[in-house]
Amino acid sequence: MEAFGGLHHVTAITGDAPGNLHFYTDVLGMRLVKKTVNQDDVSAYHLFYADAKGSPGTDLTFFDWPETPTNRSGAGSIAPTALRVAGPPSLEWWLARFADRGVQHGDIGERNGRAFLPFEDAEGQRLELVDDGGAPGGAPWAKSPVPGEHQVKGLHGVTLTSRRPRETADLLFGAMGFRATGERDLPDGGTEHFLEVGPGGPGTEVVLSVPAQAIAALQGRGGVHHVAFRVPDAETQAAWREKIESIGLRPTPVIDRFYFKSVYFREPGGILFEIATDGPGFSADEPEEKLGENLALPPFLEPDRERIEAGLVPLA
Ligand code: ZN
Repeated sequence: MEAFGGLHHVTAITGDAPGNLHFYTDVLGMRLVKKTVNQDDVSAYHLFYADAKGSPGTDLTFFDWPETPTNRSGAGSIAPTALRVAGPPSLEWWLARFADRGVQHGDIGERNGRAFLPFEDAEGQRLELVDDGGAPGGAPWAKSPVPGEHQVKGLHGVTLTSRRPRETADLLFGAMGFRATGERDLPDGGTEHFLEVGPGGPGTEVVLSVPAQAIAALQGRGGVHHVAFRVPDAETQAAWREKIESIGLRPTPVIDRFYFKSVYFREPGGILFEIATDGPGFSADEPEEKLGENLALPPFLEPDRERIEAGLVPLA
């Protein structure tokens, strides 16, 4: 069976859709490639930020759920989410931009052989920019406020903190086909294990963080909801679904998200995983030059457009 191609998208939670749009487009310079609603809760926006083309592996998406509690990371959660940039000069450029824009950030550090810069959005969403060594990927967006050479090129990886680290490791290394690339000690005496999948390198990394002590996570505003892994087509997805089921986990049926097809399952450590197809992509219902400009609804929600629009807060 074909290996996962890396990360497809990460979906996080905001309680402030207008502020979220401002941060990810005006400050981070990503492109809003799709403005739609959560298909299971049409009162909530689902905002997708990505490269100019909305390429698989570049999207960071948000559900707008103001009623959720403030997120607390810990066991059973994903944080931080790492985004790729082109190299050390870009990290320096971003360090200056974060200082200029009042963005909470740390210092440039190095782990597992890569330079990285930790930062947070205005709701405490934990993020990192990681030097991708200039690997190809990510189409620069001409209308971004960020110069093309420094733009976010897509996802680099995610850090998982499992409630059952041994079982999560068994799943990742076993059925899911991840490989170890390194590890480092955490200040509290725990360990971070670095893994990659499929082609390896930028966009394929999962860090399994095993702190000496972890409090239970509480999912909400400023946290991550799930991470999705890439498969090229529906056939590969069906094969993976069968495999996940065969090891005793409980994948959902294939759900048509219109822009891609999804299968979800909860891994043994409490984190929600998704397997998503690369296609058909965000140009399925609007031309590439107009991506994200209007509220896009999948055909089955189109008859309810008026009611759905009336239930959404204006973004600007
Ligand atoms: Zn998803």
